[in-house]
Amino acid sequence: MASLFEIPIEHLNGIGSKKGQLYRKLGIDTVGALVRFYPRTYEDWSKPCLIDNAAIGETVCIKATVAQPVSETRISGGRLLATTRAYDESAYIKLTFFNNRYISSMIKTGEEYLFYGKVTGGTGYKEMVSPVFAKPSVGEVIHPIYSQVAGLTTKQIETSVKQAISMLPEVIVDPIPDYIRYKYDLAGLKTALTKIHFPKSMEDVERARRRLIFEELLVLVMGLTSMKNVAKKKSEVVLTADHTDEFVKLLPYTLTKAQRRAIDDCIDDMINKKTAMNRLVQGDVGSGKTMVAAACAYSCVREGFQAAMMAPTEILAAQHYETFAKLFADTSVRTELLTGSMTAKQKRIVLEKLSKGEIDFIVGTHSLISDNVEFSSLGLVITDEQHRFGVRQRSDLLAKGKNPHLLVMSATPIPRTLALMIYGDLDLSIIDELPPGRQTVDTMLIDDSIRLRAYNFLIKNINEGRQCYIVCPAVENNETGLISAVEYAENLKNGSFKDYSVEVLHGKMKASAKDDVMQRFVNGKIDVLVSTTVIEVGVNVPNAVIMMIENADRFGLSQLHQLRGRVGRGEYKSYCILVSNSKGQDARRRLKALCKTNDGFVITDEDLKLRGPGDFFGSRQHGLPELKIADLAENVGILHDAQEAAKSLMDEYNNKDNLLLKGLRAEVRMLFNNVGQQLN
Ligand code: ADP
Ligand code: MG
Repeated sequence: MASLFEIPIEHLNGIGSKKGQLYRKLGIDTVGALVRFYPRTYEDWSKPCLIDNAAIGETVCIKATVAQPVSETRISGGRLLATTRAYDESAYIKLTFFNNRYISSMIKTGEEYLFYGKVTGGTGYKEMVSPVFAKPSVGEVIHPIYSQVAGLTTKQIETSVKQAISMLPEVIVDPIPDYIRYKYDLAGLKTALTKIHFPKSMEDVERARRRLIFEELLVLVMGLTSMKNVAKKKSEVVLTADHTDEFVKLLPYTLTKAQRRAIDDCIDDMINKKTAMNRLVQGDVGSGKTMVAAACAYSCVREGFQAAMMAPTEILAAQHYETFAKLFADTSVRTELLTGSMTAKQKRIVLEKLSKGEIDFIVGTHSLISDNVEFSSLGLVITDEQHRFGVRQRSDLLAKGKNPHLLVMSATPIPRTLALMIYGDLDLSIIDELPPGRQTVDTMLIDDSIRLRAYNFLIKNINEGRQCYIVCPAVENNETGLISAVEYAENLKNGSFKDYSVEVLHGKMKASAKDDVMQRFVNGKIDVLVSTTVIEVGVNVPNAVIMMIENADRFGLSQLHQLRGRVGRGEYKSYCILVSNSKGQDARRRLKALCKTNDGFVITDEDLKLRGPGDFFGSRQHGLPELKIADLAENVGILHDAQEAAKSLMDEYNNKDNLLLKGLRAEVRMLFNNVGQQLN
């Protein structure tokens, strides 16, 4: 099997350099990769249904005899319309083809064919437009359907896959050891690969899928687990004392129990574990993660080490910096900011101080991982809103110290099993409690028809001294017809809000302009901030009480929840207004789910159910490899089995002399190669 991954795809019949390019576009460069290119779905031609039983709108296969010669007419635009009728024992059906000059010679009156297509029609008649067809003798099978690119049809891919499968050796070494296969009742690799492409029944597909999903998850878990082992190196940063009691005296409030627990977990890691801390602090928006970071930084700095915190946006970095600078003003902790938009001179000064150890706590954006950033004694790395960073960026910052401690914070509340999957190399603390006195945010779903009422509601709150956010999905007016934030703000200024201060904030603005707007919003100088999702993460303005979201159906639930988290941060009653004109059932269900609950975990579950895990598990966001067939949200049962199996295999796996698991090691390497992970 492994050797097939060394044979270029162009080796197959009918694939020259041009077709080869197309295959490479699909990520298929070798014969082996083609064998592992699983069908997207199937067309089941194996059990034709009666015309009478085929429902309008359904895509089916029928077996019918052609009743009359094909008649051809030219229609508007010179297009050729070919029609005929066919029947089975239950009914007749009309067949229509466009622009196919050969139909009349391909379909013969009185002969029987399988027709596959969507049934349309009205009362009393049924029709199939442009069905695919074949003779029953060759056609009564299940066809695999592959993802296509222009110039490469699923039929062509099928033909090539057939040849690739025929090249599989008689016996292939299964990466899953036999006893594990028996234990979990899994098909062998060769059977599974053959059947996933060319099943005899849908049961075949199921069995093949289960085996391949198990394998993929096993490989993923093995890879993540071995990374975890690698990451745990001895740290030279060992704290001798916990300074949190001193830290809490700086705060105007008491920490929640959950915050304190998270801090204790971290300090414990940094004092007692001989290996570097690797911890994820996960807490819903507004749960107070920033202070957990501050407490950890404080203890580190008091022990003579530097701490660095990386945030995904300039706005957020600046805001954190202000918070910390104020908090630590009367202490010995010297805090500084480093972002891309600072002038060269400002940066130079900060970098020099940092390398000399004259800065204790640096807050910044991705700028922190630039080559020219040097620390004198980096002891702790904190990344905020971890879901916005790749695993790579995290490790780049870590590389600036001698195996420093790592604290990552995320508001994306993912179910625990999945969190452990994604952050497989991290320990986990969960902040499951909000600071006291938090108001729940009332959420409502409206459509255009009552927009003016909504505006009046905003104005009423502004008259009481509060501020509002309005979020639009796009910056510029684009082809989707969504109104742009810029235009939207103009409309407000000239209309309902002409007596108020309305400003716009979007990602394409210069950093200094963004900062300026944000600063004035923080200072209460702006009543309505019209924004794109740049304000999604972390921004904290307690006086803002309304979050109005236009075209809410364009956003994912978790993203909406994050946006909603921007309000309800102070003592005032807060509201989230979702505006959507979508009539779609799914869209409305999703938005209603959000109106019903403020619990991030419930929302994430709902989001996973309705939308699939793409957003959370995209390889770009996590540096996790892309999965071909497994679905982390859907295949939780198989995932558990794979985790159990991985555990029982780990010792053997780490014993490099054990040749039995050579195949599995090779697969782990292959899966993680794509994301550039370092694996031993
Ligand atoms: P997030 O977890 O979303 O990053 P933040 O750290 O931004 O949340 O905290 C949200 C708000 O709650 C901030 O205004 C912060 O000052 C406040 N806060 C944090 N911890 C507490 C606490 N224990 N008691 C009261 N307010 C708190
Ligand atoms: Mg935060």
